[in-house]
Amino acid sequence: MPETPSWRLEHSYARLPPLFFTEVEPTAVKEPRLVIFNHALAEELGLPEEDAAVYAGNALPPGARPLAQAYAGHQYAHFTGLGDGRAILLGEQITPDGGRFDIQLKGAGPTPYSRRGDGRAALGPMLREYLISEAMEALGIPTTRCLAVVTTGETVWRQEGALPGAVLTRVAASHIRTGTFEWAAAHRDVAALHALAEHTRQRHYPEVENDAVALFEAIAENQAGLIANWMLVGFIHGVMNTDNMALSGETIDYGPCAFMDAYHPDTVFSSIDRHGRYAYGSQPQIAQWNLARLAEAMLPLFHEDEKQAVEIANGLIPKFEERFKHHWLMGMRAKLGIFTREEEDAVLIQDLLDEMQETGADFTNIFAALTTSRHEPTEWHARWQQRLARQGGTPRQQSILMRSANPAFIPRNHKVEEALTAAQAGNMRPFHALLAVITNPWDHDRDLPEYSRPGTPPGYRTFCGT
Ligand code: AMP
Ligand code: MG
Repeated sequence: MPETPSWRLEHSYARLPPLFFTEVEPTAVKEPRLVIFNHALAEELGLPEEDAAVYAGNALPPGARPLAQAYAGHQYAHFTGLGDGRAILLGEQITPDGGRFDIQLKGAGPTPYSRRGDGRAALGPMLREYLISEAMEALGIPTTRCLAVVTTGETVWRQEGALPGAVLTRVAASHIRTGTFEWAAAHRDVAALHALAEHTRQRHYPEVENDAVALFEAIAENQAGLIANWMLVGFIHGVMNTDNMALSGETIDYGPCAFMDAYHPDTVFSSIDRHGRYAYGSQPQIAQWNLARLAEAMLPLFHEDEKQAVEIANGLIPKFEERFKHHWLMGMRAKLGIFTREEEDAVLIQDLLDEMQETGADFTNIFAALTTSRHEPTEWHARWQQRLARQGGTPRQQSILMRSANPAFIPRNHKVEEALTAAQAGNMRPFHALLAVITNPWDHDRDLPEYSRPGTPPGYRTFCGT
């Protein structure tokens, strides 16, 4: 018998030392109104149906124990103390099948970590997070999810002017970040570090032995897989600061993110990323840089003797490159329908990418064309065909593999902008139409040129929305 949907909140995070959080209540908003509710996700979580007052922070669900999490982070390589400045964790929902997920209200009002911020969020960026995280989920990429977006009836002031305010309910395996470890390390609190490591292990890596090096390796392996996944679909996170790297291995903190269309490693859309630190092609190196910051924070856990601890860390960090390459190469082979291994595969793949870069070809559509046999018979194409012939197998086997690795649809920048502009004017129809397309990304048999055409507006810039 399925259980009746209900709130079943637990609070394992709140058992950590008080250094890691401050209890704080959401600030009620004027006029909560649900803009979108994720019914399928609510069902997975075993949560009751929509309730605007709860998802606005005006009413607390049973068992809630609201708190803001403390963390630090390297933002554009500069270390700083942060914490949830506009997000409040209600607790961890225990799902009907025994899962545990953070339920967090983003934009729920000021906290002790707000600094000069207003603790609020604007509707556009919250709907962008909803859209892109649902796309990632459909693409099979680990991600936080969105349960609801509520408008507040209040105005928030941002660079762009007065905007409609909103609260987003975010669902995550946890919100433990690289920056959470950095926070404890900055306080030189080794007991807190130990407690956090053990909490992280129990929550995300229960199969890993109780050992900091083993935990770090599991986290690094997860990150390598995640970043490879991003690269394989052309996803650009946009702001890979260490406070935005979740140790669960989920994609988190969707700000100025976007999907690349024309293939180029230097692609950047974020308005604040002036030097391209977080460009598409830099993401693997940045992930490794972030892991080095995690290793630094974890030093006292690696060994009591600092010198020996540093030596251990120095041995761990460079392994990332190998891990990443492994995931990426496997993924690229799948995109090309290749299920055996040849030494030369890396060259074949790189040659295709170089050709795409030269011609400014659309990343998604080239692989879609290869998948559905619409690709031009070039010199490269002939080499690829020879490679496929060498592996044996049937065209059907290749096709199944390629159709599982190459999306027909990603959230195109022009469609995202169109949907968000309409939504802010009160029309959710384009948003729902786009959502329906991108949550079914593998269907190459639908002909929807409006949704598959690249169309990044000239000079396209995404904003953090803070
Ligand atoms: P983000 O760029 O969204 O990862 O946020 C970086 C930091 O700024 C985090 O500590 C956020 O909680 C904080 N922050 C972002 N926007 C606001 C806001 N409107 N009010 C208060 N804090 C904010
Ligand atoms: Mg953040």
